[in-house]
Amino acid sequence: MNGSYSQFLKPHIKIHPQNLPFLLQINSSFYTQFTRHAFNGPLTSLQCGALLQKLTNLKSIKMEIGRKVHCEIVICGLESDIYVGNSLLAMYMKFGDVRTARKLFDKMPVCDLTSWNTMISGYVKNGELREALSVFDLMGKVRVRPDYVTFLSVLPACADLAALKQGKEIHGYVIRNSTEFDGSVINALIDVYCSSSYIAGGRQLFEEIVVKDIISWNSMISGYTRRGDVAESLGLFSRMKLEESVVPDRVTMMTVLGACGQIAALQFGMCAHAYIARNGFARDIMVGTSLVDMYTKCGSLGCSRQVFDEMSERNLVSWSVMIAGYGLHGRGREAVASFKEMKGEGILPDEVTFTSVLSACSHAGLLDEGREIFLQMRTEYTLSPKVEHYSCMVDLLGRAGLIDEAYELLRNMEVEPNADVWAALLSACRVHHNVKLSEIAAQNAFVLRPEGIGLYISLSNIYAMEKRWDDVEMVRAIVRRKGLKKEPGCSFIEFNKSIHRFLVGDKSHCQTEDIYAKLEELSVQLKEAGYIPDTSSVFYDVEEDVKEKMLWHHSERLAIAFALLNLPSGMTIRITKNLRFCGDCHTVTKLISKLVSREIIVRDARRFHHFNDGSCSCGDYW
Ligand code: ZN
Ligand code: ZN
Repeated sequence: MNGSYSQFLKPHIKIHPQNLPFLLQINSSFYTQFTRHAFNGPLTSLQCGALLQKLTNLKSIKMEIGRKVHCEIVICGLESDIYVGNSLLAMYMKFGDVRTARKLFDKMPVCDLTSWNTMISGYVKNGELREALSVFDLMGKVRVRPDYVTFLSVLPACADLAALKQGKEIHGYVIRNSTEFDGSVINALIDVYCSSSYIAGGRQLFEEIVVKDIISWNSMISGYTRRGDVAESLGLFSRMKLEESVVPDRVTMMTVLGACGQIAALQFGMCAHAYIARNGFARDIMVGTSLVDMYTKCGSLGCSRQVFDEMSERNLVSWSVMIAGYGLHGRGREAVASFKEMKGEGILPDEVTFTSVLSACSHAGLLDEGREIFLQMRTEYTLSPKVEHYSCMVDLLGRAGLIDEAYELLRNMEVEPNADVWAALLSACRVHHNVKLSEIAAQNAFVLRPEGIGLYISLSNIYAMEKRWDDVEMVRAIVRRKGLKKEPGCSFIEFNKSIHRFLVGDKSHCQTEDIYAKLEELSVQLKEAGYIPDTSSVFYDVEEDVKEKMLWHHSERLAIAFALLNLPSGMTIRITKNLRFCGDCHTVTKLISKLVSREIIVRDARRFHHFNDGSCSCGDYW
């Protein structure tokens, strides 16, 4: 027996009994289909198409066999049959051979809706989203009417590409032909709007649905979460729980936990946890992992570890999330211990795990451990370090004051350094007052990220520390010329089941007067205790006393004042900030933690800072 399947497909060949076991091995249903046709004379196009569909659906079938079958079809002269042609398109798309599928499609003498739909969904499944949209456009040009199958393929592609224009066109079509479409098309449209920053359009569609199903709710909640509008996302979740027609599922819960983590809404996260426990989602490994992530991001590492330990099953993602959580809190030793524990359980680390553990080492200044783990990547796991691993190492070495070694590593990277690596070197130069190298780092970073205002601010701060005011002015001039704007600082604090948000210099809060009075009081008290403001991080060229005032209006200070006015005494203050701490706010928060004898936990754009009795867990390096 020669092992070729194609000979069995020739309709005129009878099957020899000695080949039966071999055919049975391929797949019994394929065999049954085939023999029936083979014994009954030449295949008709319908039989041929059905056979191809069977072939396409077989799990273990190989591309090679598909091609041979295709050859047989050509020999039989059935290729130009539309049913057979569509089956061939589907087969090639399934095998990921989009080029051959396209060639066949372009050659087809007649196409029907199935041909178009097969091409569009095939492109989407193979990740060629732009091609999918271009075929859809072509379809409009040759005036083929799409159906809901077309839309259910093309709309997710629009969502992924944030293709608002096409989404709106489809929406228009749906309105004109509304009787033909069911809820899934509307849900897919909501997804397009939510992904293309036209969330109001998504919300309008959502509100128009009379009976909203779980997918509509999930699309809308995750739309707001992805956009960072957590208050709206959590508000919708609360509303959803009151609805009788729908019950939150695991996807809802994972989205809600992600939203809580974004702004460190611990109380809300705990309510969500209780809901999860009551409704039996707690055993789900993905939900469990999301809970671990939520607790670390909300600053409650203890709860995070408890959930992690109670999980009945843990995978690589769960471990990576736990390790990253330790890193975020500067608990490097625990991160390294967990990494070893994970390996002990026989779970192989991947690149993401290495990023988590190396970043934990850098946040905690664990030089030896970091070096060893970085080496292990290659020696034990044959993984080549990627740019993010180098970035952690440059950060780690730089933090330890080994700036030259960090620079050496950076210059000998196997991959092209990106702006993050140079920015890590720049940070290290700022801490260790290395102006010369900081200029090199900044110049390189500017090329890779010309609009990165943070880089300019870092360089200007370095010059300011050295009192090189001309250079400070030069950097400011560049920023002005380029028209770069700093993202406004914004801090969140959760109080009484609602989220209070403060922008820098915010005067919109109902307690504004009391908040500013409290800040004034704190300023006087800290000055009496010997605090001297460090105005070097103020990027504007104004008088010294104005700079000082500007610092006192930074969003985290407003949030702290609000907390001191409202939270019961002794209660830990938890704040989330969108940007990195400035040097002076870090000093002030340390002093306030001592002055009022309170623990203050702040998550900035990079990590957690636990302030206690006048010092911070980050060891003043962030
Ligand atoms: Zn500040
Ligand atoms: Zn800190």
